[in-house]
Amino acid sequence: MKKTNKASKKKTATPRIDTGESVADRKKRAKRILAGLHKQYGDADCALIHKDAFQLLIATILSAQSTDETINKVTPGLFKKYKTPKALASAPVEDVEEVIHSTGFFRQKAKSIQGAARKIADEFGGKVPANMDDLVSLPGVARKTANVVLGTAFGENVGVVVDTHVGRLATLLALTWTSKDTKDAVKIENDLMEVIPQDEWTFFSHALIWHGRKVCPARKPDCENCTIAKLCPSAGLG
Ligand code: SF4
Repeated sequence: MKKTNKASKKKTATPRIDTGESVADRKKRAKRILAGLHKQYGDADCALIHKDAFQLLIATILSAQSTDETINKVTPGLFKKYKTPKALASAPVEDVEEVIHSTGFFRQKAKSIQGAARKIADEFGGKVPANMDDLVSLPGVARKTANVVLGTAFGENVGVVVDTHVGRLATLLALTWTSKDTKDAVKIENDLMEVIPQDEWTFFSHALIWHGRKVCPARKPDCENCTIAKLCPSAGLG
């Protein structure tokens, strides 16, 4: 019987390119990349539909291991049914699970969103806290989710959101260089914070996510039609 080569099926990590640039040169290149992204994506914003910080928080928790499209189909019904943190916290868990079923990992996610809603209702007067320490104290909320909420709902540039698109593109663009592990989100975030001006952190995350979807998907980057190709050391390598 023919053996399957499991190793060949394994996803390969995005290769890290050593440009040999100084941090100062990398900053200059990052500035030009930002200009290109502004030109193409203008006012790029979060793709998760939301009306306020609470809805964004819940949608972001639900978006783990799922797509924004799926979440955007589920959340209007969820927020119509449960309009406040208190209403969501006190709903029967089975009902919440049923509404969010299609987002995957629905049992754990129901526990997280109800736990976060309960804490917001009981300890934060029904309002999503606008600081990192309180946000990461909520069930199901880690730094990435907190960064999304702080940057998008509160306009606070406290970090760069590193999801799979941002991590992959930061690596392709050689804007991360300190880690051998190209999936180390914390190191990637630190590198990006060093070369991207702070007032651009939120825009940069949203723009890279859009760029990863529209022009530079993992399977087939469209380098020929990429507006930042001249600034990308990986252009034409895909
Ligand atoms: S040049 Fe190619 S690899 Fe680089 S960002 Fe553009 S599409 Fe992606």
